[in-house]
Amino acid sequence: MSETPLVIVTGAARGIGRAIAELYAERGHPVLSVDVKLPPVLKGQRRLKADIATPAGRTRIVGAAREHGSVGVLVNNAAYQDAHGSVLEVSERGWARTLNVNLTAPLLLTRALMDLMPAGSAVVNVASVQGLFAEQNNAAYNASKGGLVNLTRAMCLDLAPLGLRVNAVAPGAIATEAVLQAIEDSADPEQTRRDYEDLHALRRLGTPREVAQLVYFLGSAEASFLTGAIVPVDGGMTASFMMAGRPV
Ligand code: NAD
Repeated sequence: MSETPLVIVTGAARGIGRAIAELYAERGHPVLSVDVKLPPVLKGQRRLKADIATPAGRTRIVGAAREHGSVGVLVNNAAYQDAHGSVLEVSERGWARTLNVNLTAPLLLTRALMDLMPAGSAVVNVASVQGLFAEQNNAAYNASKGGLVNLTRAMCLDLAPLGLRVNAVAPGAIATEAVLQAIEDSADPEQTRRDYEDLHALRRLGTPREVAQLVYFLGSAEASFLTGAIVPVDGGMTASFMMAGRPV
C-alpha cells in the first residue's frame, strides 16, 4: 500500500494517453497505465493489459488500484475511433463498440473506482472537438464524444457531494501516431497536412504533450474550483465557426 494516490490513465500504450502517463510519471506520481495492448515500460509506471469495455477488464483495473491503496486522478482517455461512416452507413456493431468504449466504459470504470477515490480526487475525461461539433461521416464517434461531454457535466453534479471534481478536455487535431499515419496514407500527404493545420487558428497540429499538460492541470489541486468544464485544447479551432466542423 502506498500513501501517494495512484493516477490511472486508460489507453496509455500510445498517443495522447502515453504522453499523459509519461508526464505524471516524470512529475513523480505513481501511474497505472491501462490499454488493450501492453503499454511500454516506463519508469514509475505499472502496466496493465485490460479492455475497459468489459467487466473483467474493469475488475482487473480496480484490483490493481486496490492493491495500491487510493486513486487521486482517473484519466478516461482510451477511445475506439475506427467505426467511420455516415448516419446512413455506420454498422450497428461499430456503433455499439464506439459507444461502449468511449462513453459507457468511462461511466462504469469511474463508478467502479468510487470507493477508492477520496474527497479531493479528480476525473479527467478526454473528449474531442468532435464532441462539440460534428464531422461528416463520423456519426458514431461524434455521438460518443458528445455523450462524453454531457456525461462529464452529469458526473460533475453527481460526484461533487463526494468532493470529486470532473472535467473534460476537447483536443483539436493532435500529431499522434494515428493522425500522422492517416496524413501519410492520404493521396496527397502535404496537402492533407496543410488542411489539418488550417483547421486551427494557430495553423498547426497540437502535440500529445500539450494535451497532457492541460490534463495534468485539471487533475491537480491548482484547479480546485474547476469542475464540469469542457476545456478545448485546439489551437483556436472552436473559436471560429468557419473552422469548426469543416471537413478535412
Ligand atoms: P490512439 O488510437 O493513438 O490511442 C488510443 C489507445 O486506446 C490505444 O493505445 C488503444 O489500444 C487504446 N484502447 C482502445 N480501446 C481500448 C479499450 N477498450 N480498453 C483499453 N484501451 C483501449 O488515440 P489518440 O489519438 O492518442 O487519442 C487519445 C484520446 O484523445 C481519445 O479519447 C481520442 O478520442 C481523443 N482525441 C484525439 C485526437 C487526435 O487528434 N489524436 C483529437 C481529439 C480527441
